[in-house]
Amino acid sequence: MNLILLGPPGAGKGTQAKILVESRGLAQLSTGDMLREAKTSGTEMGHRAAEVMNRGQLVSDEIVVGLIEEKLEAPHGAGFIFDGFPRTLAQADALGALLDRHGQEVDAVIEMRVDDAALVSRISGRFTCATCGAVYHDETKPTAKPGVCDVCGGTEFIRRADDNADALKQRLLEYYKKTSPLVGYYHAKGLLHGVDGLGEIGAVSAEIAKVLDKL
Ligand code: ADP
Ligand code: ADP
Ligand code: ZN
Repeated sequence: MNLILLGPPGAGKGTQAKILVESRGLAQLSTGDMLREAKTSGTEMGHRAAEVMNRGQLVSDEIVVGLIEEKLEAPHGAGFIFDGFPRTLAQADALGALLDRHGQEVDAVIEMRVDDAALVSRISGRFTCATCGAVYHDETKPTAKPGVCDVCGGTEFIRRADDNADALKQRLLEYYKKTSPLVGYYHAKGLLHGVDGLGEIGAVSAEIAKVLDKL
């Protein structure tokens, strides 16, 4: 099963993707994570992407489609969860073509609906484990033991450079301008399933599970 998680920055895509990895054995493909890895690996592409990301703008379709193309070369039995990809109509077309080439398709698109006010508080409280990438929140999902990752026991945490008010404003603008047309695109293909992303993490997972169990 190949699944797309669609939603604005801070909607909870990464959080739900990690839950689906555990519960359904899917492989998470997050272009945001891949780009941040490229940034730390110090490549020329990574440097250029970092500047664009820090401003809250979208990295070029060519770069992100290239990253996804590489990952699809190694097929994954249970399928993929695309987290934060596609973000433009051109990326959506490219993904369709790439999957087709491997005899696969998109099986469902989960649109996570969250209002802007909630996004601001989610983004401003977000932090991740530097070792394993587990996602936390100061108020809604703190670590069980202060300063220690629940998943791997790591003690170093990261706050993203683009998780600030200015960059978030730009990221939301990019979402509504370039990514939200994908809602209509996938609706027209009969693949869109809207989920209320405002509930607690467990409630959102339950809603997603209900959608997937009906497929
Ligand atoms: P995205 O990948 O869509 O940007 P994340 O999964 O990183 O979103 O979630 C953004 C922040 O909100 C994180 O700090 C996360 O812990 C928190 N969060 C995620 N889902 C929920 C939820 N349903 N309720 C409250 N906080 C949440
Ligand atoms: P979030 O959903 O929390 O905003 P991501 O980690 O998915 O964050 O993305 C962070 C940044 O990486 C985006 O603001 C953008 O600059 C870049 N990025 C990630 N995925 C894509 C994509 N599919 N197309 C273009 N840019 C992307
Ligand atoms: Zn960890």
